[in-house]
Amino acid sequence: MDLYEHQARELFEEHGILVPRAEVTDSAKQARESARRLGGRVVVKAQVKTGGRGKAGGVKLAADPAAAELAARQILGMDIKGHRVGKVMLAQPVDIATEFYVSYVLDRAAGRFLAIASAEGGMEIEEVAASRPEAVARVHIDPAEGVTSAKAGEIAEAAGLPPQTVDVLVRLWEVLVREDAVLVEVNPLVRTKQGQILALDGKVTLDDNAAFRQARWSTEGEAHDDPLEAAAAAKGLNYVKLDGEVGIIGNGAGLVMSTLDVVAGCGARPANFLDIGGGASAQIMADGLSVILSDPAVKSVFVNVFGGITACDAVADGIVQALDTVRLTKPLVVRLDGNNAARGRAILDAHAHPLVQQATTMDGAARQAAQLATSA
Ligand code: GDP
Ligand code: MN
Repeated sequence: MDLYEHQARELFEEHGILVPRAEVTDSAKQARESARRLGGRVVVKAQVKTGGRGKAGGVKLAADPAAAELAARQILGMDIKGHRVGKVMLAQPVDIATEFYVSYVLDRAAGRFLAIASAEGGMEIEEVAASRPEAVARVHIDPAEGVTSAKAGEIAEAAGLPPQTVDVLVRLWEVLVREDAVLVEVNPLVRTKQGQILALDGKVTLDDNAAFRQARWSTEGEAHDDPLEAAAAAKGLNYVKLDGEVGIIGNGAGLVMSTLDVVAGCGARPANFLDIGGGASAQIMADGLSVILSDPAVKSVFVNVFGGITACDAVADGIVQALDTVRLTKPLVVRLDGNNAARGRAILDAHAHPLVQQATTMDGAARQAAQLATSA
């Protein structure tokens, strides 16, 4: 589970990492009060579980409480990469001298943690890594040894970070271990003009396997960022919003994940995905299709089903029945394989819906869906 920036900030503070004073609210009026308490001048920041808020207009400097209220009014309700802003954080502004990047991430392939650090922080690290790979240091961490002062020194030196960051690097490791995180990222970690090292933005991803120890961050009862995610959850569907243009429906988490990769490999980006699980009844297909089609970013839909316990003819029946209740507005590419695939394909052929096309392979279907989405 990802935490919000304000939750990450709270954890950093508890572990002795310096952070700006801040308050969180869902109301523009309250934002004005918060700004007053924080000294007037504040940074107003959208609280969404996605990066690039600055670029999207979700981070605004306000000169006084009235400006903070106005900024909060603009930011609240904003859509950032498909995430609706429900809360803003107001933070005391910081005089930045230099921006750094630091993160610890679980490197499953290496069986280690990986520290990624750069003296060129602030912007997206992927861009720095692509244009100037030598500016990004990568240092593996033995999970049993952790980040000692010596290790932190090694990371700081590899990245060209000043020696004052060593203490922060050690504390950030404590956040990762004590809070059951699989990722902690600070971008930017800044040196202020006064010489202090502060975490100005934070991302923390908790290990869901430790959820039983993390009741504090339970999202139960918390409003979904995305209204479609909420609608899908209410129907018991596993739906996730992404940033692209191809809607994806599949059965089983593994197949859905590889479908995302294959679509990306064809030069398109998934708009979302929905796992219909083991049983694909007409009702589930109808609910799933209506959720996927309600996402305005979707330009084409790729239904990728491998019939196992669920037979493909039942899935095809489900799709046909769903097409009676859901008005199809975007092209649908269906790939049926496995148990009773031929019968399933025949059912869809017989239905001959003008917006439904079939493919026999996953790669072929992904290419069709990607092309439909990018040419739409
Ligand atoms: P992100 O765009 O979602 O990563 O949001 P950040 O919290 O990282 O903010 C984006 C950028 O806004 C940072 O890299 C800073 O350059 C700037 N920023 C954020 N807070 C402050 C602040 O207190 N003072 C100043 N001067 N700039 C800030
Ligand atoms: Mn940032």
